[in-house]
Amino acid sequence: MNELQDLYQELILDHNRSPRNLRRIEDANHKAAGYNPLCGDRVTVYLSLNDDIVEDISFEGSGCAISTAAASLMTQAIKGKRVEEAEALFEKFRSLVMDDAEYDEDKGPALGKLLALEGVKQFPARVKCATLVWHTLKAALDSTDKPVTTE
Ligand code: ZN
Repeated sequence: MNELQDLYQELILDHNRSPRNLRRIEDANHKAAGYNPLCGDRVTVYLSLNDDIVEDISFEGSGCAISTAAASLMTQAIKGKRVEEAEALFEKFRSLVMDDAEYDEDKGPALGKLLALEGVKQFPARVKCATLVWHTLKAALDSTDKPVTTE
């Protein structure tokens, strides 16, 4: 049990030290920015959607270790998935970290490495750090198909 916890924490530290998919997708067709005022985390999610499949996903931002690791883990989990699978993952992840939601391991898609973030459940202020990137993903999925213009 403790060993598992250590492993998960190591995974979070690792994704914070060297975040995966931390870059901008210049020709992204979906994009959204998110902000968590409680902690000061900022994140922008870039998506290349093709026929409902997330061909590429990346993020940029600055924030605490949890928000950075959560963003990194999210991009890894979502890449190559269909939009509806991505939304199902979000729902299940929410139920994992939100105290008032009922988490059923056997229901829905497997969370895999995302389970590393389960510990934030005990820290209500941290839950938003872990879910910010997912809300931003949802906003990006719902955004227009127009190519992103460079600011
Ligand atoms: Zn944070």
